[in-house]
Amino acid sequence: MDGELRAFRHLYVHIPFCKHKCGYCDFNAYAGMDRMIPEYLDALEKELVFARERYPFQQLDTVYLGGGTPSLLGAEEATRLLTFIRRTFNVAPDAEVTLEANPASTDEAKIAAWMDGGVNRLSLGVQGFDRRALAVLERRTDAAQATQAFGLARAAGMSNVSIDLIYAVPYQTMDTWRETLRRAVALEPDHISTYCLSFEEGTLLYRRRAEGKVPEVETDLQWDQLDAACDVLEEAGYHRYEVSNWSRPGFESRHNRAYWRCRPVYGAGAGAHSYATNGERAWRWWNVARPREYDAASPSTRADGEELDPRKTLAETLMLGLRTAEGVIAPRGFEEELGRLQRAGLVRRTDGRVVPTRRGMDLHNQIAMAVL
Ligand code: SF4
Repeated sequence: MDGELRAFRHLYVHIPFCKHKCGYCDFNAYAGMDRMIPEYLDALEKELVFARERYPFQQLDTVYLGGGTPSLLGAEEATRLLTFIRRTFNVAPDAEVTLEANPASTDEAKIAAWMDGGVNRLSLGVQGFDRRALAVLERRTDAAQATQAFGLARAAGMSNVSIDLIYAVPYQTMDTWRETLRRAVALEPDHISTYCLSFEEGTLLYRRRAEGKVPEVETDLQWDQLDAACDVLEEAGYHRYEVSNWSRPGFESRHNRAYWRCRPVYGAGAGAHSYATNGERAWRWWNVARPREYDAASPSTRADGEELDPRKTLAETLMLGLRTAEGVIAPRGFEEELGRLQRAGLVRRTDGRVVPTRRGMDLHNQIAMAVL
């Protein structure tokens, strides 16, 4: 890497363990390996020290524990990891510290440990409240667990809670999706992410669909469900600030915003990706994915990486910026592409920025195809 890298102010830490592998999931997550957690934490600590010595870090503005299922760590393990991060890095007093939790592995003792360790934002993987949709997704959590976990977090004083929902799930009707949205809003979370189910090759759900065991979802229904989400969530006071994310004012995810703004993010843990830049050139690298191999490799956990070519770097900045309502200052060299997108009603220009229209947010894949 040439030139001085811009300092990292955002840290992602990956916990790759899950109780059970959900049928639709293609994340770097593994079931039945919880016994490896202490060893994995050893490896993670070694990588974090190595990273701090090797790369420039400033005061951290965000820390994000994602997975997999970070809530699978026992309360003491979570305390150990959070304390280690604070000792190793200078975490800003007002940093956003997020932990992803599965309702089934969330309890009072763990919430207390997370909050003592500085976690101030909880991202609860609810995914839905409708039993049939959860069964198709092979989620082993139900609406009661999700509601209970949410209540426990609020009772403990967690003031920033986000929930995830999935739509375009086979057998999910407009009515069941509307009911899911209604129940989500009734909890009064600060942030809601809605993801359109994708059938990723290699997942159990992909195979089941190929074998005709689950039906296709009609495209019209998918669009109607997205429309319903926009209507219900906006009416309830949530602002769609990114293609799949809604928040109350001031509760936008600062960590995810760092990705959309192409800020340097250091990713630690199995399979985690990092992005670095010196302002002119940019690099991306990723860690060994399998936990056992990651443990053996630590602290040299990097599997591979690449320098992004300059045009691709600018294209990514544009494409990611156009995922967000704030848009982006258009880099030079994309006038033709942006002109076409503007004529198609997908973007507009305002105050020197280019921003996506509502249609552009809904059809962001067309923007991505045009600029990448
Ligand atoms: S809990 Fe999340 S990361 Fe784990 S298998 Fe299910 S969807 Fe994947």
